[in-house]
Amino acid sequence: MGLLSAGTPLSWDDTKQVANHIRSHGITQFLHIWDRLKDKNGDELLWGDEIEYMVVALDNETKNAKLSLRQTEILTKLRSIVDNLSSETKDAIALPTFHPEYGRYMLESTPGSPFTGSISDLLAVEKNMRYRRTLARKHLKPNEIPLTLTSFPRLGSPGQFTEPYYNPCDAVSSHSLFLPEQITNPHVRFPTLTANIRRRRESKVAINLPIFFDEETPRPFIDPTIPWDRSIYSEDPEAKNGAALPDHIYMDAMGFGMGCCCLQLTYQACNVNDARRLYDGLIPIGPIMLALTAGSPIWRGYLSDVDCRWNVVAGSVDDRTEEERGLKPLEHDRFRIPKSRYDSVDLYISEDWRNRPEYNDQPIVIDHCIYSRLRQHGLDDLLSKHIAHLFIRDPLVVFSEIINQNDKESNDHFENIQSTNWQTLRFKPPPPKSPIGWRVEFRSMEVQMTDYENAAYAVFITLLSRAILSFNLNFYMPISKVDENMSRAQGRGASQSEKFYFRKEVCPGGNTPKSSGSSSPVDGSRPKDRKMRNCFPPPEMPQNGMPKGPVEEEYEEMTINEIMNGKGESYPGLLGLIWAYIDTLDVNPQELSKIHSYLDLIRRRANGSLLTPATWIRNFVRAHPAYAHDSVVTQEMNYDLIVAIDEIERGVRSVPDLLPEYYTGGEVDGGSISP
Ligand code: ADP
Ligand code: MG
Ligand code: MG
Ligand code: MG
Repeated sequence: MGLLSAGTPLSWDDTKQVANHIRSHGITQFLHIWDRLKDKNGDELLWGDEIEYMVVALDNETKNAKLSLRQTEILTKLRSIVDNLSSETKDAIALPTFHPEYGRYMLESTPGSPFTGSISDLLAVEKNMRYRRTLARKHLKPNEIPLTLTSFPRLGSPGQFTEPYYNPCDAVSSHSLFLPEQITNPHVRFPTLTANIRRRRESKVAINLPIFFDEETPRPFIDPTIPWDRSIYSEDPEAKNGAALPDHIYMDAMGFGMGCCCLQLTYQACNVNDARRLYDGLIPIGPIMLALTAGSPIWRGYLSDVDCRWNVVAGSVDDRTEEERGLKPLEHDRFRIPKSRYDSVDLYISEDWRNRPEYNDQPIVIDHCIYSRLRQHGLDDLLSKHIAHLFIRDPLVVFSEIINQNDKESNDHFENIQSTNWQTLRFKPPPPKSPIGWRVEFRSMEVQMTDYENAAYAVFITLLSRAILSFNLNFYMPISKVDENMSRAQGRGASQSEKFYFRKEVCPGGNTPKSSGSSSPVDGSRPKDRKMRNCFPPPEMPQNGMPKGPVEEEYEEMTINEIMNGKGESYPGLLGLIWAYIDTLDVNPQELSKIHSYLDLIRRRANGSLLTPATWIRNFVRAHPAYAHDSVVTQEMNYDLIVAIDEIERGVRSVPDLLPEYYTGGEVDGGSISP
């Protein structure tokens, strides 16, 4: 997560003093990149995923599953195997990369080098993910497992949830009532981030998730596990003074959010304009995929009434002051800011003629000086607004050694602000001194428990991103409706019980590409592509000009099943569009069958014939013999759940309500499945 520069962090007071310096030089650095690379064109499709794991230590005697705090040791071991290989071997097998993450129990892995647009690379992603997991497993203790689970159910619960045990009384960075200092990656960046968010906000973060009321859950629910009367840190009374709401699960530290795991995907675009088109195209997809991948129903030992991590992470890094949150009149701060640094995208940025100004219907807070500077430099309105919006934030960690940089060669100050704006999509400019192009990162999805599922979602988003560019799909709708979808996506069972705003007509001129079902090319005159292409001409404005009907008539509420699998004659669903795109590719029957095994999972999750991970986990707890129907997830239930998840991943436990019958724990061989 972000830059890991080494050095001495400034105190919070000193960080504030240099905030303008960091912002101003960050913009200079961006402008150097812009001047050099704004016309960069013809970059091929390169893409890659990021998967986050939590290392869990099983104690079979006490029946406890605990977070293992051995990240540093494990990463050192994983690095040493890479270092010990000869350079030829390294090149030949492109060893994956493991990165540290916020939690001291977390690992992140990425492929050793990005995938290309070839079909074989697309279908290699599952094998690659499995290889990464196997490699991680090899460097763990026999009782440790690398788990891809979005939230750890008993993080912050009474008793022992870390291995080794640490007491939350010493949480010097977060001042949490629940999480010990040692939960956090010891690299100085992470404790500093944690402490500076608290200092900037002038209180601890406060996250309240509604409790899931089961038959025996007391009403009102006043959490007996909160140490209401602790008095170690000055913020300790916050809980009883209103920060902890009744009928809610209260969390008070960055670790509750940034200690979650997710699945992210990054795509290199042909040029900056395509990157902006892809970014916009994926904005309305963000909440839909959040609902569909939902995997986190348990928080701090309780079943909650939500299924997703999003609002927890948003709350966990919400560094806004009371003035910025609108609780007090503006006096010392510069802006009222509606959202946390971690939240959904606020602005469509493409100059595509189809991007009607009405879609950017939320007032957007920008730094006007930065906006003017960008405009004077020649940048267009939307990209200037995008950057000037990111740059309303303060830097949270500044290292004294690198305050003065060569702005032509470094992007450190730019990235300082950019990488602490955690939104559903990230528009990634090329780094200086590298061949890398303009990229877009899709960030809303929850990580799935098996690599088959993670690969399925990676393949789905990759194919959808190609369909967006090659068919010029139009998913625009007002950003306020995307925000509303974000909120709906997180509720319990949302993928089946909610409706979501979605655009009715997504294909140019209503010409919906249709899959023949036999994988023949949509346009018979063009030979099929052997690779997923990256460069497509932008959509042409129709001769009679822009359509100008009321925006409200362009979208309606649909179920996730309709959004994915289609509605009526005119809307084929995202899966229908993807199949039409696959028709333009030269894929052999075996490949086709493998693609089918992935899209089939998504089709079935969308129509409800397979459960989301969140629903499956909730059902597991509610059916557990020790469950008292009071929303409490005990140490023993947590242990059984973690063991079950590990068994599912290894294919020794069959879960026909969660995974297709052909999942065996090995890499799914699509051989027996036909489209
Ligand atoms: P971050 O944490 O900043 O989002 P990571 O380095 O962890 O970034 O992950 C970036 C992902 O992008 C990896 O999967 C990597 O393989 C992929 N990637 C690397 N280079 C490119 C590129 N030129 N275009 C697209 N993706 C890339
Ligand atoms: Mg990460
Ligand atoms: Mg990363
Ligand atoms: Mg990322």
